[in-house]
Amino acid sequence: MTGREGEALTKVLGARSAAPLEKLGLVTAGDLLRHYPRRYGDPGTLTDMDRLALGEHVTVMARVAHATVRTMRSRAGAMLQAVVTDGRHELALTFFAKRAGALRPHEDKLRPGRVGLFTGVVSEYRGTRQLTHPDYVLVGVDADDAESAMFEASRPIPIYPASSAVPSWRIQRAVRTVLDPLTEADVEDPVPADVRERAGLSGRLDALRAIHVPDDQRAWQRARHRFRFEEAFVLQAALAQRRAHAAEQEATARPLRGSGGASLLADFDAGLPFTLTEGQRSVGEDLAAELAQARPMQRLLQGEVGSGKTVVALRAMLQVVDAGGQAALLAPTEVLAAQHARTLRALLGPLAEGGLLGGAAHGTRVALLTGSLGAAARKEALLQAASGEAGIVVGTHALLGDQVQFADLGLVVVDEQHRFGVEQRDALRAKGRVAPHVLVMTATPIPRTVAMTVFGDLETSSLTEVPAGRAGITSHVVPAGNLRWMERTWARVREEVDKGHRAYVVCPRIHPDADLPAGGGAASKDFDDVPDLLELVDAEGADDRPPLRAVLEVADMLRETPALAGLDVGVLHGQMAAADKESAMAAFAAGELQVLVSTTVIEVGVDVPEATVMVVFDADRFGLSQLHQLRGRVGRGAAAGLCLLVSTAQPGTPAATRVEALAETTDGFRLATLDLELRSEGDVLGAAQSGKSSSLRLLRVVQDADLIADARREASAVVDADLELGDHPVLRAAIAAQLDDEQEEFLERA
Ligand code: ADP
Ligand code: MG
Repeated sequence: MTGREGEALTKVLGARSAAPLEKLGLVTAGDLLRHYPRRYGDPGTLTDMDRLALGEHVTVMARVAHATVRTMRSRAGAMLQAVVTDGRHELALTFFAKRAGALRPHEDKLRPGRVGLFTGVVSEYRGTRQLTHPDYVLVGVDADDAESAMFEASRPIPIYPASSAVPSWRIQRAVRTVLDPLTEADVEDPVPADVRERAGLSGRLDALRAIHVPDDQRAWQRARHRFRFEEAFVLQAALAQRRAHAAEQEATARPLRGSGGASLLADFDAGLPFTLTEGQRSVGEDLAAELAQARPMQRLLQGEVGSGKTVVALRAMLQVVDAGGQAALLAPTEVLAAQHARTLRALLGPLAEGGLLGGAAHGTRVALLTGSLGAAARKEALLQAASGEAGIVVGTHALLGDQVQFADLGLVVVDEQHRFGVEQRDALRAKGRVAPHVLVMTATPIPRTVAMTVFGDLETSSLTEVPAGRAGITSHVVPAGNLRWMERTWARVREEVDKGHRAYVVCPRIHPDADLPAGGGAASKDFDDVPDLLELVDAEGADDRPPLRAVLEVADMLRETPALAGLDVGVLHGQMAAADKESAMAAFAAGELQVLVSTTVIEVGVDVPEATVMVVFDADRFGLSQLHQLRGRVGRGAAAGLCLLVSTAQPGTPAATRVEALAETTDGFRLATLDLELRSEGDVLGAAQSGKSSSLRLLRVVQDADLIADARREASAVVDADLELGDHPVLRAAIAAQLDDEQEEFLERA
């Protein structure tokens, strides 16, 4: 930050006042000015005190009912006992002192009928809620003169994110000290005047005054809107710059091979056992055109679970191989990487046996490179990648390692993006001599503006239809405690298996006696089975819940379950050796195992068309998007899928509502939005490891959709006209500050 906002608070406020603020992360004047009120107290309405939780640090607005000082009999000293009320509920305020005289000033101020803000930690004494030695400020009393007291008393009262060391009004006072003397010349606005005018936004100084010292409700609401826009605008300008810089990078053009001459892509298309959906065809055309350009493609492909993204990616990879380059396919788990390699080899047939007897003359090879490969196999795969013999290299993030060299990397495909961050994308991009083309795929539907915010440096395409002939999926909630329902569940599994189908049983943990959820242990090399347990975000009733079900325990139980007698039950989880995981998946695909008990390792992209039924234990404790992904593993063939969500949630709780919502809809976008509403913005952005930044304070990626779209349009126009922002030094500085924040966070995480 420039101007006076860059000044240290120690200088502006003095070391004593600045020290506690520093504990809140507020170091400069600008930091303090961007520490916006969380909410505003309306002088006309009191806080509903029915909601105060024991042990919580609270700030309440209440009216004094009475206050009395008395000396204590049991021990030396005096006590002031006051009672404040919201009109219905009472809260006691207790002050102790050695002498009664020391309490008189409080008694003097806490006169019946006065309204104030009181802050402290809620405790209980003989059944009454109380604050001991609360800090407080009385409306209209603590102002300098009568007139301003009247006015101050009618303003909305800003309530800041505070701590017990720094109550809200101390922050407010500090803000006023910084803010009051500022003039237009001291405050620099990253949003250019013409953009402000079009968007109907006030200047930055006015907005700072309105958000910290509002005259009325409307004032702070408008100011908040303005700062949301500012945040979106700076972020979008940064992303626009990123896009523009990437577009200036050079890439090797990989045009479609014309007719005549051998083409892997043409041969592949000719042998395809199904026709491409309309979406697959048109997205395919877009990709083909972009790959033919001499600047790097940067595209996000979204598609519902089962919409057929793999084929789209494979066709793009073949175009690149035909043009003499190599393609890398990056998967988030070893299981998925191995499956991709298997699928690609199967789809390609002789085309993937280049150089081998019986292979197509112009064929290529598909190499698999994962972290747990044996030394010999690893060496072979590395050699094939470095020599260019393998046109396609499939792997986990082991592909990002320094030892991995490519002869001519032309395209990087990242499957299931939600587990890969920007940094990993960048690392892979840096592997080519010139920038490779990049295609990112995700099956977690991302609301449009989230995509704009999190993946704003990418262009997006979507596959909205699933191939014809899918029978779809039905979901039901099964109450865990109901024995008859559980019996019925296993009977349904049996019926499916008897029809020649297969069943997944998903549990959140591996070992019954370990505290940690699956993946929390040390052994998982990949992100294989980290369940997205909601417990981690909301602890609602977590204590009196039964323990989470575990793979090993449930597998043993199923082997004893009469309804499943004679069936082969296998297990799959992230702590198994890679070869064991592989063989379990292969046995399940081949039907040698009919029931697979697994962690969420099967979440992403595992494709066994014969699997028709899935039982999910502790379904109420998973995130919605993850459950949607999980259940996308069944109903992928011609037979209808069935998903049974075993839940321990009490009826009527939010957890129960969540599972019911999942049972009712298969609309991934709706579920993703519902899921987001349950989480904080930090989670949303943090999950994608992108700009979780302290720079987004007010912006809400779901609700502020229109605003983000506007900001993006305006920011792109500014950047298009002035790429390096030479005419917009304040905006440029704001972007740099934001990058610093991100980098810092990245370093902290590393
Ligand atoms: P996802 O988009 O979830 O990654 P996949 O690419 O794994 O989906 O495709 C799911 C299944 O659909 C695969 O078995 C694939 O072979 C099949 N598939 C893909 N495209 C089509 C199509 N156009 N018609 C029929 N089946 C298809
Ligand atoms: Mg997939």
